Amino acid sequence: MMWFVVAASLLAVVTFFCLVRTERSDKEIAPYVSHCLFWLFIPIVSNIVLSLSPDVTVCRFCYTVFFISTTVLRYYLAEFVFKYCNIEIKKPYLRYSMIAVTAFDIISIAMNYVFSHVFRVTADTGIIEPLPDHTRMLFEGDKVHIHFEPLGYYKIHLIISLFLFGVSFIGLLIKCIKTSKLYRDRYVVILTAITITAVWDAFHVFTNSPVDRSILGMCLCGIFIYNYAMEYIPSVLLDEMKKTVLYSISDGILFFDEDRNCIFANSAAMLQLDMKDASMGFEKLLSLTGEEREKSKDYTSKAMTCSRIENGEEYIYDVELHKLHDMQGKLIGSFAKITDTTERTKREELNRYLATHDRLTGIYNTDRLYEAVREVLRDNPDKDFYIVASDIKEFKLVNDRYGRDYADKLLIRIANLFGDKATSPTTRYGRIGSDKFGCLIEKKAYSEQIFISAMNEVPNIDRNLTIPIIMHAGVYEIEDKSMPISAMFDRAFIAIASVKNEAECKVAYYEENARDELLWGQKITEQLDNAILHGQIVPYLQAQVSCEGKVVGAEVLVRWNHPEEGFMPPVKFLSILEKNGMIAKIDQYIWECACRILRRWKFEGREDLYLSVNISPKDFYMIDVPSVIIGLAEKYELDRSKLRLEITESIMMNDIDEKLKTIVRLREAGFIVEMDDFGSGYSSLNMLKDMPVDVLKLDMIFLKDTENNERTKKIMSLIIDLAKSLGVPVIAEGVETVEQVDLLAKMGCDYFQGYYFARPVSLEEYEQKNLNAS
Ligand code: C2E
Ligand code: CA
Ligand code: CA
Repeated sequence: MMWFVVAASLLAVVTFFCLVRTERSDKEIAPYVSHCLFWLFIPIVSNIVLSLSPDVTVCRFCYTVFFISTTVLRYYLAEFVFKYCNIEIKKPYLRYSMIAVTAFDIISIAMNYVFSHVFRVTADTGIIEPLPDHTRMLFEGDKVHIHFEPLGYYKIHLIISLFLFGVSFIGLLIKCIKTSKLYRDRYVVILTAITITAVWDAFHVFTNSPVDRSILGMCLCGIFIYNYAMEYIPSVLLDEMKKTVLYSISDGILFFDEDRNCIFANSAAMLQLDMKDASMGFEKLLSLTGEEREKSKDYTSKAMTCSRIENGEEYIYDVELHKLHDMQGKLIGSFAKITDTTERTKREELNRYLATHDRLTGIYNTDRLYEAVREVLRDNPDKDFYIVASDIKEFKLVNDRYGRDYADKLLIRIANLFGDKATSPTTRYGRIGSDKFGCLIEKKAYSEQIFISAMNEVPNIDRNLTIPIIMHAGVYEIEDKSMPISAMFDRAFIAIASVKNEAECKVAYYEENARDELLWGQKITEQLDNAILHGQIVPYLQAQVSCEGKVVGAEVLVRWNHPEEGFMPPVKFLSILEKNGMIAKIDQYIWECACRILRRWKFEGREDLYLSVNISPKDFYMIDVPSVIIGLAEKYELDRSKLRLEITESIMMNDIDEKLKTIVRLREAGFIVEMDDFGSGYSSLNMLKDMPVDVLKLDMIFLKDTENNERTKKIMSLIIDLAKSLGVPVIAEGVETVEQVDLLAKMGCDYFQGYYFARPVSLEEYEQKNLNAS
């Protein structure tokens, strides 16, 4: 008996300890475990008292408490099992019936004091008499002192106990069958424990042992429950999970012992390092990281990026090496983590490329170019550099005429040419705007010829061009390297704006005043509309005189009466407006002025005088010249022969057929077309033959040259002869002296214009001189 008391006391202490720990836990299952432990603690204590007390009343009380508490225990055990096994009781009947039978059993047992229907406890009388069946005896030493006799209801109590126990048993059994092998342990152990306890209990019921020792089993069962529900994390499960994680993650993982032997490599590592088993791990890792095998064992944790080429494909890995120490800080080995960053790196590279390169041409975009220039200038403080910018003339026209695809091809070609010519290591180039490119080039690597020839090579994609592809380049010599890069490129573009001969591929250099010119250009361009509106743009007339000295007409020359700049001749503004196409605006205005004058003269009976207006080559690009002029003549009901049109031969530079058609159209409409500035530029005598004009206007350059130059005189004379033979009258301009008049008259020149006869004057002055006189 003593051993039972000792064992039960020990277990009671352990149970109590578990109960206290459970109470402190936050786990969801803790209240369930705690109920079980509490209702386990009660019967065990009552059992100990039972074993020690010789008093019948005490024993009876203890038996009552024992039976009630074991019933409650069984109920809570079932509740615990539901929770532990995660069994959801959908129908409430089971729980209701459990509660009902438990309550019934508790009340019945408590009523034993009144009805004595569960058990009877009596003191031993010392008389040896036949005892009823199942009577149990409690011993003190070897002396029986208490008799316990189960009565009628006791069987019902057993059935109720069996029912409650059965619920727990079936719950656990089902869970054991259903759950993964990994988890089965935690259910099997508890199932086994409660089964053994139940069998032990049954043994107690069917033998006549006076004290229920199965309570010890119940206690152990309680401790198991505590352990598995509160403390236990199955190591197999943990191992299995670790293994699954290690094998399923995409990173390669390798473990090394202290001698750098690879003791584990997951499948990703096998693949990354191209090996069949882990034993090669360390060598393979070294070959990936490109390191020498380190002799000393004292290596450090580190991270690096490595790459490996396989079948021509590059793979990029981030490799991390970590030392591993035990609790005492002693090195136990190391592990490596290999992350395949190939895709991420390539994606990042692509994004970086897209952010820094021009989509169409694949060369640097503006931002990247500026940055690259800044880097080169910073890294080469003692070298001298140029900024070169390029621009295609009339790119919009090229785009409109030949289409986007062709224009794109052209731009790609320019980019490629930059690539071909930019051989110096410090050269940087990129695309700055639609048709604008820029580059940084070292002074010693620069030669104007490279750019000129490159620009001339550009149109080589297609030689049958009616619009020539003309490129201009502007060069800015960097003096102040701290200047914003954008300002450097601005200056190169300002240089482009200063290109004089626009019909050729030219390189221009930035000069300080080019900037002022650009600003001036911007200013007058902005002011033009307003100037026309407020009558600041005025026509001046310069008389044209016949051989006989009679004024036959006048050339209309534009003047700008600027409120701040004063009276401006065309040189101050026309070339700028010509470049940006605004000249068409001013020309149309002057033409209309001329028409208005002619109309008035017509009414005043001065129909003998004609007016000759200038048409810029650019007008043909900007507007439909014949339609505008014909429209004006109709509007003012003019005699069309009184409006002469001065066209320079330079319009014949391109689109010859079209220009010829235009000239023919104007002549057929009744206008007199003069070829202006003949001999100044590209003229060949041949052109005279092809160009159907009514009058030839000799450029004043001849007169400047003729003073002492016999050769020029001969050419002039030849031109006049040729014109005469074609039946085209000749007018000479820039006539300043009587000698010139004589010479020209001798050569057969028909008309004269020049300061000798008259300067360009205002309309009023012209009318005063010429209309009143006649
Ligand atoms: P242009 O068509 O050759 O006009 C003749 C220019 O020579 C005029 O200069 C005139 O003033 C100048 N000139 C006339 N006689 C003499 C002379 O004896 N000696 C010298 N040294 N010069 C003389 P202006 O008016 O300054 O015009 C310059 C150019 O501007 C014109 O050359 C013409 O190409 C252009 N221009 C003038 N007005 C217009 C216009 O309304 N529309 C267009 N498109 N161009 C115009
Ligand atoms: Ca003219
Ligand atoms: Ca002229």
